[in-house]
Amino acid sequence: MVLLRFAPSPTGPLHLGGLRMALYNHLYARKLGGKWILRIEDTDTTRSVPGSVEGIQKALSWAGLDYDFGPARDGPHGPYFQSERRDLYRSYANKLVDNGQAYRCFCSADELADVKARLARSGSNNTYDKKCLHLSDEEVARKVKAGEKYVVRINDGIVPTRPPTHDIVYGYVRDAHLSLATDPVLLKSDQFPTYHLASVVDDHEMGITHVLRGEEWLPSLPLHLDLYTHLNLTPPQFAHIPILLNPDKTKMSKRHGDVQVVDYMRRGWEPHAILNWLALAGWGAKHEPEQPAPSGTSSSSSRSPSPHRLEDAPDSTHLMTLSEMISGFDLPALTHRSSILDVTKLEYINKHHLMRTWSNPKGLEELAKRVHGLVKDVLSKPTSPYTTVNNIKNAITLLEGRLTNIHDIPIHAPYLFVEPDWTSVEAQSMIRDISVEKRMHIIDAFMTVIQANGWLTFEAASHESIMVTLHQEREKLGVQLKVFMRVLRHALTGMKDGPAIIDIVRALGHERTITRLQAVKD
Ligand code: GLU
Repeated sequence: MVLLRFAPSPTGPLHLGGLRMALYNHLYARKLGGKWILRIEDTDTTRSVPGSVEGIQKALSWAGLDYDFGPARDGPHGPYFQSERRDLYRSYANKLVDNGQAYRCFCSADELADVKARLARSGSNNTYDKKCLHLSDEEVARKVKAGEKYVVRINDGIVPTRPPTHDIVYGYVRDAHLSLATDPVLLKSDQFPTYHLASVVDDHEMGITHVLRGEEWLPSLPLHLDLYTHLNLTPPQFAHIPILLNPDKTKMSKRHGDVQVVDYMRRGWEPHAILNWLALAGWGAKHEPEQPAPSGTSSSSSRSPSPHRLEDAPDSTHLMTLSEMISGFDLPALTHRSSILDVTKLEYINKHHLMRTWSNPKGLEELAKRVHGLVKDVLSKPTSPYTTVNNIKNAITLLEGRLTNIHDIPIHAPYLFVEPDWTSVEAQSMIRDISVEKRMHIIDAFMTVIQANGWLTFEAASHESIMVTLHQEREKLGVQLKVFMRVLRHALTGMKDGPAIIDIVRALGHERTITRLQAVKD
């Protein structure tokens, strides 16, 4: 059975990139009937932010990505917080030291900075001179006994031949970690592991079969594979996922708009539309893995396999439910090119997910309940007693073609939930050039139309037949249709744009319509 893991560091709110990583793990695990773990990588105590884990859990649950094991979901591989697994990492580090594959380094931060500067001056790419590798066993024992602080470094570069390693997305990777520090640290002086050691130990101990993680870890892959070799362990398969970019190819950051999942939750986006959008950022191109480059070449990774479109690859606005994503997903279909997230595509996808939802009665009911919960917050004022789930269902039907996001409902049609603001600049401008007398005549005429044969008759009448009657009334008054309609729109909504007046009247209902018409008359 495949077992995957999503392994965020609790350094703040979950970002879209993190959600996409969780999604890909979920899709691949579910597709192959496997499971996935939520593992909290909290070994960098200086970067941990309280509340992050709860935020991550909340975001995953909002998105419907249900991990099988992790915080609050015990399983055979726990604990799922790395901070609770420190003895394990220490024992692995000791094993590497005992085997001569790692060593204790007692150099202070100042000493290390001096060495690094000296090496740089001499034109070396090394960041450390391996001084502590040459300490005698007695010297090391003496320093440890004296309580001197130390880190454990891997003695890098002792794997005689490092075969090119294969990444499912990037193809064959060669010696990419030449760019890493010299003899990277595995265990820090606070005895917490670094990512390198902790992730290798945990992926092995937990029985992870596939590691899906951000491309920023690709340069570390050979180092991790060395660790597997030293420890005599079989590595999992790796798939590195390109980071998300803005449409202008800049790195996504708060400055460019919303990057945190919680922002999208607050703004009323549909969770499955977000997943659909994220899934497609990076999915849809396939590449043939390139053969390893001949030995002796110095390329850092073979990032050049030429992608070609899959016959049935989804395009970037292809609509999918979560189960459609699961059945269509595959790791080789992920592209290694930069993945662009464009919010205009989200608008399109969200709108169509909404349309699917409200086209069945249960979906409509659920949407109406959600809208009911957010109207007051969006409008930031108390709503009228007419703000019921049933009336919201009518509002959705009234506005459906105009909706991109459920937050649009109170924004496009606040008049369904609160009284119109007739004092607004917009409302005032609508009637600026229409005399009070003319407006009153129009309103009276309309009241007559509604009440002539009773409300029920009005409600049941076709749009066309009401329009015929309205035309007759308008002609009697000798006003243009657009003036006639503008006066009514002003009275009922206070807004220039919106659905057809007759539909608005039906959504408002008899009592509210009459009250509003009366109010502008008084
Ligand atoms: N804790 C790492 C991060 O948040 C996870 C990398 C991984 O998935 O292995 O970047």
